[in-house]
Amino acid sequence: MNGAESYYRATAPGDACAPLAGRQQARICIVGAGFAGLATAMSLMEHGERDVVLLEAEQVGHGASGRNGGFVFGGYSLDEQALLATVGAQQGRRLYQLTLGAVDQIRRRIAQYGIDCDATHGGIYLANWFDDPRVLDERQHFMRDHLGVEWQRISPADFAQRARSERYFGALYEQNAFHFHPLKYAQGLARTLQAGGIRVHENSRVVSIEALPRAAGGKGWRVATAAGEVLCEEVVVCCGGYLERLYPALAGAILPIATYVMVTEPLGGRMPQALATDAAIYDTRFAFDYYRPLADSRLLWGGRISVRSRSPEEVARLLYDDMLKVYPQLAGTRVDYAWSGLMSYGRHKMPQLGKLPNGVWYGMGFGGHGVGPTSLAGDVLSAALMGELSKVEQFAAWGLPTTGGPAGLLAAQMTYWYYELRDWMRQ
Ligand SMILES: Cc1cc2nc3c(=O)[nH]c(=O)nc-3n(C[C@H](O)[C@H](O)[C@H](O)COP(=O)(O)OP(=O)(O)OC[C@H]3O[C@@H](n4cnc5c(N)ncnc54)[C@H](O)[C@@H]3O)c2cc1C
Repeated sequence: MNGAESYYRATAPGDACAPLAGRQQARICIVGAGFAGLATAMSLMEHGERDVVLLEAEQVGHGASGRNGGFVFGGYSLDEQALLATVGAQQGRRLYQLTLGAVDQIRRRIAQYGIDCDATHGGIYLANWFDDPRVLDERQHFMRDHLGVEWQRISPADFAQRARSERYFGALYEQNAFHFHPLKYAQGLARTLQAGGIRVHENSRVVSIEALPRAAGGKGWRVATAAGEVLCEEVVVCCGGYLERLYPALAGAILPIATYVMVTEPLGGRMPQALATDAAIYDTRFAFDYYRPLADSRLLWGGRISVRSRSPEEVARLLYDDMLKVYPQLAGTRVDYAWSGLMSYGRHKMPQLGKLPNGVWYGMGFGGHGVGPTSLAGDVLSAALMGELSKVEQFAAWGLPTTGGPAGLLAAQMTYWYYELRDWMRQ
């Protein structure tokens, strides 16, 4: 196996952006070059605001954005029923539709800026793990009746043909969804930003964010790294599950939760034994598997969540066993890459978009379903930064409740085990 390096990093090492050095002035400084930070910068640029500096502690896409499953689909980490129960049918539907708009926006940016990111427009299947057709009936009806979205029903026999697995009991097909190489997309956005005049600096870990004293010229912020500083009017923190201790008022409102991915050796002629579709697949359990074929005939397989990171060997072993439960015909397949990534979860599982009372903006809490919502967050935050607050107000129902630190992590792990057990008893 290739150590801890991800398949994504191995196939897209990226062009280096120089670290921040010395003092810079900018109207807006964004901290964190994951999808949330990149999308905020993109929306600002597309609306004519180019006086922006984006600071990344490591490399562009170092966090969840460059390590994820690559599924691009509608919805949030909070499930649709809970979304509508919280804000009502009309507003819930509106918020869900925004995520479909975000999927279209990602598609548009890939085409408009010529981002080569292995985008595969084959849709996504939600496969039924349980021998109970009501699971799909209820989901299909809910999506149609409450959200106006038609997910096509695939019979068990048909789906067994496409997925080449006897493990499932039919599926729903989301045609408008797609999958891609997320790190190539992140790097493509960074290149586009730089070409458009936005300053992007890697290896520039922000160590402090301080309000400028009034005596030193009034309003604004000093955002400092080890080798430089940005003096700016607005600062936006987009550090996801990698925030650590940078800003305690934000860190106390998220839990960093790990999830795992592995990639097999190229399957070549064996691929059709495993998948007869170019769509991506996930299943109906709380603790679901998610997987998809890659352009070079490998299979990418993800799953599980945990409050701790595991070694690549351990991740590979766990996920390989999961894969064989669905594809026993792949026994003996070599695993070439395995890695972990951290997601950021708020207590309510919805994105946290807004401004602290002291004026620091934030965009985080996208959980395990963040590719679409981070793109949407970029629009919401950029509009707010340009003085248009109605979009960000739509997310005001989900603030920054404390997640309870280590006790919260323990509670999250126990909840996960509980649901895992419930799935196991149901099957
Ligand atoms: C393994 C895995 C699989 C997933 N699969 C999917 C999927 O298939 N589909 C989907 O929709 N979602 C998926 N998700 C979720 C999705 O990837 C995330 O919700 C989303 O990428 C979060 O983006 P972000 O910008 O908020 O955070 P991140 O991508 O984590 O970015 C945060 C960035 O901030 C930087 N940073 C942190 N501290 C500092 C600092 N002090 N100074 C400067 N920079 C700093 C980090 O280095 C990092 O690059 C998955 C997540 C994981 C981990």
